[in-house]
Amino acid sequence: MSDKTKKILVATTNPGKFAELKDMLDFGFEWCSLGDLSDVEQIREDGLTFVENARKKAFGYAKASGCWTIADDSGLVVDALGGAPGVRSSRFSGAQEIDRILLDHKNMAKVLRLLSAVPNAKRTAKFVCCLCLASPKETLIETEGKLEGLIAQREIGENGFGYDPIFFVPELNKTVAQLTADEKNAISHRGQAIRKLRPLLEQILRAG
Ligand code: IMP
Repeated sequence: MSDKTKKILVATTNPGKFAELKDMLDFGFEWCSLGDLSDVEQIREDGLTFVENARKKAFGYAKASGCWTIADDSGLVVDALGGAPGVRSSRFSGAQEIDRILLDHKNMAKVLRLLSAVPNAKRTAKFVCCLCLASPKETLIETEGKLEGLIAQREIGENGFGYDPIFFVPELNKTVAQLTADEKNAISHRGQAIRKLRPLLEQILRAG
């Protein structure tokens, strides 16, 4: 790694995501997020798959900044909706809300409405997270994590964000919004993708 690439850029402006990645990867890098950079043009998430978006962001921001860059893309995949909301998870309802909580409620309301005639056994779904680490020259690591569950009949629970209140985990008999942050990290798609990335990053660093 050159001096510039000893710094790892996490391609997010979300402080929660930044802290989670930095803490779980826990290597002696200098870490920064998009909020620390000026003059970097925003990269559009217009890929058709999670992996395409993660790759596009990681490689694009690595080229723009000169730093090794980690990017993720994640979302909800509902089988009875042919995989929707998928890469459109954050804007599924089409609402232009600025308020994230209102937007989340509208997105969940749309999923519940579209599934209103679908029986419990057919409400299977998963959360997916793809992570990509890229240098300014190439993609170095890609990992994926998945959490399988069922879409509930209504919102239950107060924790988390996004679709957590309607995502029921049968093994725990709870929605993700009823889990603590630690309980969620232990099983979540994002936690799994980060835990898979860690040994691969160690291998690359060892190889020098
Ligand atoms: P992003 O990858 O952070 O852009 O997430 C895309 C969207 O997927 C979010 O806005 C949420 O709607 C949804 N999503 C991703 N991860 C989660 C999660 O852990 N819980 C609930 N919703 C999620």
